[in-house]
Amino acid sequence: MSNYEPVIGLEIHVQLNTKSKMFCRCGTDYRDDLPNTHCCPTCLGLPGALPVPNKKAIQDVILMGLALDCEINKNSYFARKNYFYPDLPKGYQITQYDKPFCHDGKLVVNDKTVGITRIHLEEDTGKSMHITEKGGEEYTLLDFNKSGIPLMELVTEPDFRKAEDVFDFAKKIRQIVRYLDISDGDMEKGNLRVEPNISVRKVGEKGLPKYKVEIKNLNSFTSLKRGVEFEVKRQISILEKGEIPIQETRGWNDDKQSTYTQRIKEEAHDYRYFPEPDIPPIELKESKQAKDNTDEIYLDEIRNKLPELPNIKVGRFVKDFGITEYDAQVLTEEIEIAKWFEESVKSLKDKKHGKKVANWIITEIMGSSQYQLSGVNKLKIQPLQLADLVTNVEDGKISRPSGKEILNILLTEGGDIEEIIQNKGLEQVSDTGALEEVVKKVIVANPKPVADYKVGKKASLQFLIGMVMRETKGKADVKIVNQKLTELLG
Ligand SMILES: [Zn+2]
Repeated sequence: MSNYEPVIGLEIHVQLNTKSKMFCRCGTDYRDDLPNTHCCPTCLGLPGALPVPNKKAIQDVILMGLALDCEINKNSYFARKNYFYPDLPKGYQITQYDKPFCHDGKLVVNDKTVGITRIHLEEDTGKSMHITEKGGEEYTLLDFNKSGIPLMELVTEPDFRKAEDVFDFAKKIRQIVRYLDISDGDMEKGNLRVEPNISVRKVGEKGLPKYKVEIKNLNSFTSLKRGVEFEVKRQISILEKGEIPIQETRGWNDDKQSTYTQRIKEEAHDYRYFPEPDIPPIELKESKQAKDNTDEIYLDEIRNKLPELPNIKVGRFVKDFGITEYDAQVLTEEIEIAKWFEESVKSLKDKKHGKKVANWIITEIMGSSQYQLSGVNKLKIQPLQLADLVTNVEDGKISRPSGKEILNILLTEGGDIEEIIQNKGLEQVSDTGALEEVVKKVIVANPKPVADYKVGKKASLQFLIGMVMRETKGKADVKIVNQKLTELLG
């Protein structure tokens, strides 16, 4: 087994979240609607319809290219890829060929650089639904709502050697398209489709193997990882028998957790690509000049939209807020959480509590059912309130358990922190005199633990602290309680 290593490259398709389709004005919000309700002559491929490229989709693809350090082709064009399939009735797909918008980029995952061969733009196809009636009659229905949705295709170099890196890379791509706000990147919904090309060679061999196997229908990150792992094992067992795996396309069966033959590839298909005659070449300009018309696409405008990307954000969070790299990773996983965290820290009076804010978000807020259910933007607690709450706890105005109680109220009902403290009487008792009375009472009421403590059983102290906290309903300042107990017990 260990004599072999996989060689894996990826093709990733991402549906862009533009309002209208790639070459017509049909809406893209088709998911909850009846079949064939978001179509027009253009996206149905009727003769004579004229495609007009969606400028926003082109800008989105270039934005992605910039995020992945790609070279941008300033002179590009759309091409026809000729093939017939029932979900593509016009007999060709409008895509890009030798001049994709972006090429030669890279993305670092798990400290390894993965080459990005190209990122281009094309139109999605319709959807076929294969029906089998009870009587056994079989037929296929076609829905063209999806036809013409802008589809970004990203192709990597065959740089992967581990299923885990494939998994992490795909997740990183999802994270980046969400940061760029160009797609939901949801694999379950089919917004993000990852198709790995897998082959296996002997360790030490340099060239690419003579065959490759593509896996389709992977509809979650977990099945992507399992699919790759399964396929690598399957191919190694064939190679160990002295045979060579067949070049083919295989599907993923989620129930059986295995791949199966879908289509044996003969020679590479001849798609007879040629420039799309109905769409003029796309010329990108560096920046806007006075004489330019408003329909043009300017690279500097797109560059200005590039947000701070996750890797950079992690580094800055570690440096600026003194949090660990792991915590920074968690907080930057979704851009909304990262924004929420920064907003909260910004409203702190004492910036050194940033680390505490991070802890509260990660353990209390992200762990709450409210967050799990509907995400950070629908929370009833505001970033400013968390900053206030943390300040109250750190300044000793309320105890940590009271802080958690207040947070819980803010998460479920919302409200005003000061009011909650007043109404619930949660103000921390730090009055040494008052606490001394309680401590004395607890000592009298618990002779056994007191005796244990005096013969050296230090654990009894924790028990006695607990009793004081119970007496004060969690409002006592633990530091003072600890101090008083040790003092009075001698
Ligand atoms: Zn249309």
